[in-house]
Amino acid sequence: MNIDSIKNGIVIDHIPAGRGMTLYDLLGLGKLDCPVAIIKNANSSAMGKKDIIKIDADIPVNLDIIGYVAPNVTINIIRDGVLCEKRSIGLPKILKNVIRCKNPRCITSTEQELDHVFRLENAEEKIYRCVYCDTKASSDS
Ligand code: ZN
Repeated sequence: MNIDSIKNGIVIDHIPAGRGMTLYDLLGLGKLDCPVAIIKNANSSAMGKKDIIKIDADIPVNLDIIGYVAPNVTINIIRDGVLCEKRSIGLPKILKNVIRCKNPRCITSTEQELDHVFRLENAEEKIYRCVYCDTKASSDS
């Protein structure tokens, strides 16, 4: 795979160095059949070092997961070999099934089929709370 010649796919750029693998795992990219490349510790004029993920397929990715792990990334969508969309995402307001509530008395720990939903309370400090029991999510996962 020539990582610079994606025809139809997604490039996730400006991932903080060291978070590329976390994103790779959370997005389940290891389960895909298509070529996926992670570039670690690439030089970045703005960030010093950064990670980049390139997915050589036009597949839906979970922007909530990406926004939660690395809110300042740039998503580049490539179609027919041309960059057709560049977007930034930021912290999602609602997280659905990205993190799990750690409160053992929370309804989500007994009702297995319930979605794990968190709402953003404070974007600056990246505080999320469970919508069912109000427990604060641990800030790093
Ligand atoms: Zn809860």
